[in-house]
Amino acid sequence: MERKKLLYKTGVEYGDYTINHVLGCAHGCTYPCYAFMMARRFGRVKDYNDWLQPRLVENAIDLLKKEIPKKQKSIKSVHLCFTTDPFMTGYPEVTEMSLEIIKLLDHYGIKCTALTKGVLPSELSKFDRKHEWGISLVSFDEDFRKQYEPFSIDYPTRLASMKSLHDLDCKTWVSIEPYPTPNIVEQDLRSLLSQVSFTDRIIFGRLHYNKLVSAFPGYQNFYNNAGETVIAFCKEHDIDYHIKARTLIDL
Ligand code: SF4
Repeated sequence: MERKKLLYKTGVEYGDYTINHVLGCAHGCTYPCYAFMMARRFGRVKDYNDWLQPRLVENAIDLLKKEIPKKQKSIKSVHLCFTTDPFMTGYPEVTEMSLEIIKLLDHYGIKCTALTKGVLPSELSKFDRKHEWGISLVSFDEDFRKQYEPFSIDYPTRLASMKSLHDLDCKTWVSIEPYPTPNIVEQDLRSLLSQVSFTDRIIFGRLHYNKLVSAFPGYQNFYNNAGETVIAFCKEHDIDYHIKARTLIDL
């Protein structure tokens, strides 16, 4: 697959620019995945099975070599990725291309943030310390993962890859989003937080587009309490945090 443009300004509240150099995602999340819903709605993929077959943008590096220098001065940061996973489990060619893109951004002195439900590769430690390497982590319950993130890497391996980078003085972050309600998985948020207390930044957000959330009595109260728990924990541990819009709502 080829594209004409790859570097986009994003509307996502904690992002600046983004690069999505793959169509589809083999992790196949069923929360549901917003990127899959949009790709199917706009006819970019036929169905779920089609979404599970990732297609690289073959001309990504050539395109970015032209696009990045033109926008270099106006870019604060580039996020990999909002509509796919840059370190997709079982697809080394995706990881390889993501690392090449990061190398390019690093060369131009542009801050990069990456987020995965796979393994953060150790090669990331070669780049500038201003970048931020993150994992998505909403649970430690492997039964939940098998149902909602079926082809992602298991939680302990995912966390260990981030801890290794942290131990090499890299900045790390954790996206606790989309956080499920207790009728989806019963779990202790403080215990999850305590396992990532070494990280530099936490993003927390609720689960959308899932009927089970609204079926949970007092779900907004639940998210308000969970958001407050995250804020208190981050203040206590001197961690930067961001609570996604529409997670905390005054009742
Ligand atoms: S890892 Fe991200 S992009 Fe991939 S299926 Fe899951 S939510 Fe969607």
